[in-house]
Amino acid sequence: MKIGIIGTGYVGLVTGVCLAEMGHEVTCIDQNTAKIQLLQSGQAPIYEPGLEPLLTRHSALGTLQFRSSIAEMAEDAAAIFIAVGTPSGADGTADLSFVLQAADQIADFITRYTVVVAKSTVPVGTTRVIMERIQAKLESRGLSRKLADVVSNPEFLREGKAIEDFLQPDRIVVGIESQQAARVMEQIYEPLTKKGHSLIVMDLRSSEMTKYAANAMLASRISFINEIAELCEATGADVEKVRLGIGSDHRIGPFFLSAGVGYGGSCFPKDVAALMATAREYQASSSILQATVEVNRRQRKRFLAKVAEYFHGSLEGKAITVWGVAFKPDTDDIREAPALDLIKSLLNEGAAVSIHDPIALPHAKQVFGDRPGIRYFNDPYEAVQGAHALMLVTDWDVYRKADMDLVKKSMNKPVVFDGRNVFDPVQMKNAGFHHYSIGRKASW
Ligand code: NAD
Repeated sequence: MKIGIIGTGYVGLVTGVCLAEMGHEVTCIDQNTAKIQLLQSGQAPIYEPGLEPLLTRHSALGTLQFRSSIAEMAEDAAAIFIAVGTPSGADGTADLSFVLQAADQIADFITRYTVVVAKSTVPVGTTRVIMERIQAKLESRGLSRKLADVVSNPEFLREGKAIEDFLQPDRIVVGIESQQAARVMEQIYEPLTKKGHSLIVMDLRSSEMTKYAANAMLASRISFINEIAELCEATGADVEKVRLGIGSDHRIGPFFLSAGVGYGGSCFPKDVAALMATAREYQASSSILQATVEVNRRQRKRFLAKVAEYFHGSLEGKAITVWGVAFKPDTDDIREAPALDLIKSLLNEGAAVSIHDPIALPHAKQVFGDRPGIRYFNDPYEAVQGAHALMLVTDWDVYRKADMDLVKKSMNKPVVFDGRNVFDPVQMKNAGFHHYSIGRKASW
């Protein structure tokens, strides 16, 4: 099938590449011409494992094309996906301006029956708004309103595992109102459904809500275990043992129960905020969501407070190394990353901050530039030279496998604040480190 995608960010690009891999002919559009030029030259603008080989293959086959204007898209596309950003507005509501702009472009473009797929995460009721908007425009162009159906098809991929998640999804959720659109969506996803991946069809509002509920649930699990971690520290329990104990219960499961400095990224913070805004709009309660956000905020502060406490309340003049800026491993995405807040606070407290990240360093440079007190390192061991403390903020594999003897020799003092519980406290103690991790006994 011929498919168009508007937006070539983390979701749009992965969707385009994977739909091509599933046998479709895909044209991806982005208004960012620099991104399109890069993609046309065969390079991915984002770091995502497994993306580039598929990009290269389908670009060469001609089954994947990149254009900077919708006018350059084939007119006979069966479906056009909207995969543009929906960032947080000032009051936490989702900013729908990119989505509505894309909807207008589609409405001005189509001349034959097209299914418009809302892939972006949008609040309950938005898909209907997009449908009304497109159909009204079609009418004003003297065309039938029936030329467009709009469906909701939220995306559940994880950055860092996006290709795998798209091609082997736990489920595909589609919110739909028309039988004709349902058939198109079934055909698009047939290469996956015939391998046994389920397509769950529901109404528009339930589909939109499913996406927010999924992210809010995952965020709340992280805040839950972080609250338990705080209690573990207070009572002398070990959160890693507790995690094993509760995660083995099949009603609970082991996933998304890692204590740490809290969640970040381009989705959880904004989606929880948007769901809270929806609750406000409908005068419904959002106590669990509020607590989730509050615990997440406190978690970063608690981590920083531990470092300050270690240095008797003052970080002035201390050399602190931060390992990891990306909001999680295997991505270059630093949007709302906990490391950004932590680095800002360290600099404000007068510390000299050395940072390392295997992939996201260029993005960190865009945020902090040559602000006094900050230095960037491509080598994690050079980054710890002379440091008074090391803060591990992202659990990249390279840190898990680090040569801690070398780290110890390089540091001014062997002090590690392990924000992702990567290192074993007993081993760290035996190796001569002062080690603090989340929800476990500190070794000093
Ligand atoms: P992104 O910011 O990485 O990419 C959005 C892209 O859309 C940008 O390249 C931008 O230039 C382009 N764009 C905006 N308006 C356009 C227009 N009118 N025409 C052409 N291009 C346009 O965003 P993202 O992270 O891919 O997220 C997209 C949506 O998917 C969001 O709603 C997000 O919440 C949702 N989502 C994201 C993830 C994730 O892990 N990033 C996962 C699931 C769902």
